Amino acid sequence: MTSVYRLAVVGIGKIARDQHLPAIAAQLGFELVACASRNASVDGVRNYPDIDVLLAAEPDIDAVSLCVPPQVRYAQALAALHAGKHVMLEKPPGASVSEVLALRDIARARGCTLFASWHSRAASAVKPARDWLASRNVHSVEVRWKEDVRRWHPGQQWIWEPGGLGVLDPGINALSIVTRILPREVALRAATLTIPADTATPIAAEFDCLDTDNAPVRAFFDWRHGLVEEWAIDVETDGGRLEIREGGKRLSIDGKQVTLGAEREYPALYERFHELVATKQDDVDVRPLQIVADAFLLGKARSDRSLRPLMSR
Ligand code: NAP
Repeated sequence: MTSVYRLAVVGIGKIARDQHLPAIAAQLGFELVACASRNASVDGVRNYPDIDVLLAAEPDIDAVSLCVPPQVRYAQALAALHAGKHVMLEKPPGASVSEVLALRDIARARGCTLFASWHSRAASAVKPARDWLASRNVHSVEVRWKEDVRRWHPGQQWIWEPGGLGVLDPGINALSIVTRILPREVALRAATLTIPADTATPIAAEFDCLDTDNAPVRAFFDWRHGLVEEWAIDVETDGGRLEIREGGKRLSIDGKQVTLGAEREYPALYERFHELVATKQDDVDVRPLQIVADAFLLGKARSDRSLRPLMSR
């Protein structure tokens, strides 16, 4: 029989309401018993203003899912792990690589599961793409991840603050797919970051990476795109061309569409979290965040005052 874990969700905002709450409601292995959010509540469960009050009042919960922006997740994850709870992190798993690695070590020392989730890796195209690429030599990869920030992040200030990643908040989804499907590791070699005046994070970026066979992996990220977003990955190989479209909802090989299963990113994430808790494992892959961090380390930043009016605030 499936174990049922008592779960709390922290940060009831856009992604919690759009994806987490429906996925948890459909997942028999978790019972949502409580939420913590400063300005929001969820019907039918106990609600608290923050995680510290929640942890004090709910000693029997087994697990916590953190849906807040990355800058505040570390303190919350630490509190939950110190209280002996299993923790699931939204993407990106933290505001820095070092904090995520510290959390992983604490989780292991406490015997708790830490799951750094990457929802785009659960998109339908990802597993078949990985399987097809496993036996091929990659010649080149091009990522185009472009959308209108005003459509996807209305009113969100945290995306422009340190740790908010700017256009690399969606862009890291592409990197999570690339690092999952390619048969070889990828290293960042150069980057440019276009940063609007008075903000800390880029509105556009270009990455030049190489895989360990020196195949170029280029990525173009832009938040100044038109009405229809482009979330595309093209991979040229010695055995043909693979194309991922719509962020992983569509896959074609040599121009022929591959039939994919139904889209179920967040249900798949909660299945994985359940499996990790039940088998006492963790799943913490920082590679997408490491590449983004390397871009801030190695990239050329260009500040551009003219870009300010395009921001979402
Ligand atoms: P959001 O709606 O702006 O924030 C989520 C909630 O976190 C807010 O409603 C707020 O709730 C709480 N929060 C915000 N700032 C806080 C602070 N300083 N301290 C404590 N709590 C704070 O953000 P989101 O779009 O849901 O994104 C959250 C995470 O999910 C991000 O890492 C993002 O990359 C990821 N994600 C988002 C999407 C998407 O489509 N939006 C998709 C996939 C993944 P209270 O004010 O009630 O506390």
